[in-house]
Amino acid sequence: MSAPRADFPLLAAQPSLVYLDSAATAQKPRVVIDAIRDYYETANANPHRGAYKLSGAATDAYHGARREIARFLGAADADTLIFTRGTTEAMNLLATAWGHQHVHRGDRVVVTRMEHHANFVPWQQLARDVGAEFRICELTDDGRIDMDQLRLLVTANTKVVAFGHVSNALGTINDVREIVKIAHAIGAVAFCDGAQGAPHLRVEFDALGVDAYAFSGHKMLGPMGIGGVIARRALLESTHPYQFGGDMIEFVFDGDSTWNTLPHKFEAGTPNVEGAVGLAAAVRYLDGIDMDNVRAHEVELTRYALAQLATIDGMQLFGPAAAEARSGVVSFNLSDIHPHDLSTMLDVDGVCVRAGHHCAQPLMRAIHQTATVRASFYVYNTAADVDALVASLRRAHARFHAHAG
Ligand code: PLP
Repeated sequence: MSAPRADFPLLAAQPSLVYLDSAATAQKPRVVIDAIRDYYETANANPHRGAYKLSGAATDAYHGARREIARFLGAADADTLIFTRGTTEAMNLLATAWGHQHVHRGDRVVVTRMEHHANFVPWQQLARDVGAEFRICELTDDGRIDMDQLRLLVTANTKVVAFGHVSNALGTINDVREIVKIAHAIGAVAFCDGAQGAPHLRVEFDALGVDAYAFSGHKMLGPMGIGGVIARRALLESTHPYQFGGDMIEFVFDGDSTWNTLPHKFEAGTPNVEGAVGLAAAVRYLDGIDMDNVRAHEVELTRYALAQLATIDGMQLFGPAAAEARSGVVSFNLSDIHPHDLSTMLDVDGVCVRAGHHCAQPLMRAIHQTATVRASFYVYNTAADVDALVASLRRAHARFHAHAG
């Protein structure tokens, strides 16, 4: 089941636009835009700070949103959901706060070859800073984590395995439970970058067993500037905060300070209430579709896209062959047309795709590409969008070769 295009004001206003860049950011349904406006029109104040009723309304809106988002992601303990600007800030929080406290010289940090820079560089830099080993698990030829290699890499001195739920560049869905099992077998923690998982798959945080799961609201129909990380309570409680200021404080003495309870301890300063409220409206909208339907729709579209793209001469597809093994992300190159030229040609036909290294340079080097073109699908896309992409690619191919020849 797809979502009606009419629910998305930007798409409704531009009927011929073929938006295939939801892995970068999703379009917003009217209910999200309305929820933000309604918050500002009825409940805006600085939460936590005022004794007056309006501040109470803002506080309720903020924490009500937290409860809804935690429930959506399968976490019973909403106070272990820390709001951040998104996945990037969440992974930096983990690497900076948890990492500097727990990873030391001689320890090992393991990531995978398919990580987005946001889940690669924070761990690389942590390892550099403390003198730990930074190890990268390679991929199989069809773009999956080499699980045999991962089992060998996760040695007794490994403190953390940081991995993505879904690759933004290949679409590969990783086996979170198996990776958690490998990490926990030797007492390491498993941190999951869910930027591309939470928008597309039902996340059962409590059942997954992962120690922390990060997400970005703007990729799941919510506004930009809001996202978060859900983590095990014991892990958050034993971790020293990394930002200091208003709200996260219990007492400030002249020589030292004590910290507020969760979630406040990790949310210094005035929070993004409008973002949380907007994201709560987004997860209500996704719940209305049902995440099983979101997934089924994407598998169907991806299967169709993979089959149609494969009929174009010179098409090189990256990532797993089976639609079931990937989310709605299809990465490709077309003969010798530079990905940036190709995406510019598609734009002439109103087809929006991403071209570049997708913030995954270590992965691009491994697949011997400087860049790829990426089409990514979401609830509002249909088979007609895939047809428009394929037709546009055929035109681009013909035009390019007419000029080149
Ligand atoms: N991780 C993955 C897999 C992503 O796809 C992205 C965004 O593209 C990020 C992390 C970073 O997310 P954000 O820019 O919302 O912080």
